[in-house]
Amino acid sequence: MSEEITLLLTVQEKDQQGVDLSLKVERLEKQKIQVQRRLDEERAAVDRVRQQLQQLEHNSRLKNLEVDDLDMQIREYQKRLNQGIISFKEMEALRTKILNQRERISEMEDEALALMDEIEVTKTRLAEEEKALGEREKEFTARSQEIASRIAQLREEIASCMEERAEVATRIPAHLLTRYENLHTKFNDPVVTIVGGTCSGCKLKVSGNAIERARNGAEIVTCENCSRILYIH
Ligand SMILES: [Zn+2]
Repeated sequence: MSEEITLLLTVQEKDQQGVDLSLKVERLEKQKIQVQRRLDEERAAVDRVRQQLQQLEHNSRLKNLEVDDLDMQIREYQKRLNQGIISFKEMEALRTKILNQRERISEMEDEALALMDEIEVTKTRLAEEEKALGEREKEFTARSQEIASRIAQLREEIASCMEERAEVATRIPAHLLTRYENLHTKFNDPVVTIVGGTCSGCKLKVSGNAIERARNGAEIVTCENCSRILYIH
């Protein structure tokens, strides 16, 4: 096997390594995004409980205001009754109103109590979910950092792989390197071995003459079919 073929094979190997490493980086980048997305989802779920609690507290305040309002009205009616300067019919009407409003207040107080219960339950739930989220945030952050440092490590490996490739490439004649680069735009393996008389790239038969020249190793032989650079071990 000629020196040129050996160098080309090294370049090809480095190119393949570069691709493999880049794919790993790509997968890790996706994982990192997924981790972030899951964390966002979990935060949003806790946010929804928080908003639910705020809504309940708001409703509870409104309910209490309504009760206070009714209470004030009753007191107003009572005052008028006590003053006794209205007709009997008006007094009867006021008494009925007071009764109705007291009933309504009693209903609303029940509703207010139910709301308070719901608020307590939601508060407990929120506290639990916030605690769980805190744990998950720690996990996600650790996982994220782990992925980021693995990516950084892979990027270093890619850089040193490409450095080595560049160094080897300088030792290959320019025209041959160009031929390799052109083939590389089509194939991952521009340099292939002849196995059983066929090109291991395109799997077609290689002429006896080409096999002979490849074995000789004095010149660069290419596949008549796919143009890949051929060699024999
Ligand atoms: Zn071929």
